[in-house]
Amino acid sequence: QSKQLGKNRCQFYSSDMQETARRRVQLEAELRVAIERREFVLYYQPIIDAGSGHVTGAEALVRWQHPLRGRVSPDEFIAIAEDTGMIVPIGAWVLDEALRQANEWLAQGLPELRLAVNVSGVQFREQGLLELIAQAARKPGFERIQLVLEITESVLMQSSDATEALMREIGKLGINYSLDDFGTGYSSLSYLKRFPVDHVKIDRSFVSDCLDDVNDALLVEAIINMAHSLGLNVTAEGVETESQREFLSARRCDFLQGYLISPPLPADEFRSFVLRSRATRSLDAQAPNS
Ligand code: C2E
Ligand code: MG
Ligand code: MG
Ligand code: MG
Repeated sequence: QSKQLGKNRCQFYSSDMQETARRRVQLEAELRVAIERREFVLYYQPIIDAGSGHVTGAEALVRWQHPLRGRVSPDEFIAIAEDTGMIVPIGAWVLDEALRQANEWLAQGLPELRLAVNVSGVQFREQGLLELIAQAARKPGFERIQLVLEITESVLMQSSDATEALMREIGKLGINYSLDDFGTGYSSLSYLKRFPVDHVKIDRSFVSDCLDDVNDALLVEAIINMAHSLGLNVTAEGVETESQREFLSARRCDFLQGYLISPPLPADEFRSFVLRSRATRSLDAQAPNS
């Protein structure tokens, strides 16, 4: 009987895996079409200064608006795009679109913001990245946009001298780097010294447990202190509760990002968010007893 159970379980798993594999093959084919049809859209998640609460920037996050499946999460399609190399044209579109949008916001009177764009390690191993960014940097208005490239630890860990040189070349164009999902990889402090990174983002898994788990609390504290002693700024991602915000602010985390502040927003809603938060602040400032 147990043998039969085992067999059934085996069949269950294999059909499950087949289903996953099938969806993947389908998504891969559909992703090619999506690039031609431009089925992508960028959302922007506000990032605030932990001390003042001012919006200082945004992270651009890509969304795939599939005509039949609805929205496909980046957690599902970015990996496929990386494996197939399609992340290169997608990443080029993301960069272009984010900069176009930032220019539009500036024209509409929004203050200058730091604009963070995620860049995959695959893009860093491609020749075209420097030229892509150099081209973007030649466009009018670029000097008013503080472009930040978010890279993960794995980019640094797998990187060659060539990657390091590429990062420095791109850095000369006035672009900063932020180390994303910090703490989840196994990079060492030496990476932070060796590469031209000026910012770390504490992974949300540590932030979400920092009030319940002593180890996570200590880790968050250690990352903030270590980053500061190396002269780097720190953003906490995935801030969802007021107590997390207090915990992070009390430990001098520089910037906050998460659902507590705002989820990622379509461009026009991001713009309203910034305007609204500025209006609220000036009202606060005018209120007699606040
Ligand atoms: P990431 O760069 O670490 O982005 C942060 C993710 O956390 C986003 O997920 C965001 O929506 C989510 N998030 C923000 N605040 C909260 C919160 O308070 N709670 C929770 N539970 N989640 C929060 P999203 O947009 O689904 O993106 C997932 C990942 O996909 C990103 O992680 C990034 O690695 C990748 N990605 C997104 N857009 C791009 C892109 O344009 N290019 C590349 N290469 N990767 C991208
Ligand atoms: Mg990111
Ligand atoms: Mg992150
Ligand atoms: Mg992440």
